[in-house]
Amino acid sequence: MLSQMKERDYKENPFIVIWEVTRACALKCLHCRAEAQYKPDPRQLTFEEGKKLIDDIADMEHPLLVFTGGDPLMRPDLFELARYAIEDKKLSVSMTPSATPKVTREAVRKAKEVGLSRWAFSLDGSNADIHDHFRGTKGSYALTMRGIEYLKELHIPIQVNTTVSNYNLHDLAAIADKVMEMEAVLWSVFFLVPTGRGMEKDMITPEQHEEVMKWLVRVQQTMPYGVKATEAPHYRRVFLQERRRSGQMKASAEIKREDLLGRAPKGVGDGDGFVFISHIGEVYPSGFLPIACGNVRDRPLAHIYRNSPVMKQLRDKSLLKGKCGVCEFKEICGGSRARAYAVTGDYLESDPYCVHMPNRPEFPVS
Ligand code: SF4
Repeated sequence: MLSQMKERDYKENPFIVIWEVTRACALKCLHCRAEAQYKPDPRQLTFEEGKKLIDDIADMEHPLLVFTGGDPLMRPDLFELARYAIEDKKLSVSMTPSATPKVTREAVRKAKEVGLSRWAFSLDGSNADIHDHFRGTKGSYALTMRGIEYLKELHIPIQVNTTVSNYNLHDLAAIADKVMEMEAVLWSVFFLVPTGRGMEKDMITPEQHEEVMKWLVRVQQTMPYGVKATEAPHYRRVFLQERRRSGQMKASAEIKREDLLGRAPKGVGDGDGFVFISHIGEVYPSGFLPIACGNVRDRPLAHIYRNSPVMKQLRDKSLLKGKCGVCEFKEICGGSRARAYAVTGDYLESDPYCVHMPNRPEFPVS
């Protein structure tokens, strides 16, 4: 655990590794990154290949490991893989199952037995109407709430993931309250990247991004859970600016619920402290930046992460273009490379959904 907390060199080892253990899923969510399918792909990594991947991950200074999907519970060997990662390789593992009838008390008990660090559920609306519309499946909200009760009973730390879009912008405050009721340790707020089934027309505007992030800073200061913004590195810029403005924010660590997992000591970005492995072993800078950098069937993960030209470019902030390239916040932010790629086709371009104007003559503030 300590090795996760000390500052690591992201050129060598990521802070967090996301493994899409399967693409199979019974849901059909509006904004699914994976464009998940009902049946597993016959090419998905086998149990033995999965163990070898876990060996390679552990060799990279034990980053956090997240099992995602599809629905991880669609893999019959899921808990064996988790047991291997946790008991044999001493990794901290969390997972993001879909809320389906597979989330039984028995499944949650197995997660507890193998020592899962955190269980994440998606919540995209504070009530069944909004959430089920988003998830494309009636009854998903009720199953999520039932699963939350099992997690509470067994004291497994809960993370809630919410995707912000035009569909639920008006409902965010109610969702924030719901996250508190659910006794979550972390609210991970994802800002849509138009990839997979996510469409640009569903995204909130750049100005709305800014407003939501300012509001999230207040949520982070007042709620008993932590707040993480995903595919939104400019949240770090907004957080700093708001802190400077108010000059007197509480030390947020003092008021947070206990959590088994550490937080990144410095911000991670696509390919920069963060790496994603697909169900068939392809390695990507993130699940939202669809440029394959190699396959773990051909080369160890560490080799691909450290040497891929795309990964290396993503870690070099001097290559950033446009206003991100001259921004005074680029070292702590740098913009979402996935969103830049999805909207402009160039992963080094400016994040088009950030309203900040760098303090430079070429970007006069009117
Ligand atoms: S301009 Fe780019 S680097 Fe600067 S805050 Fe916005 S997204 Fe971040």
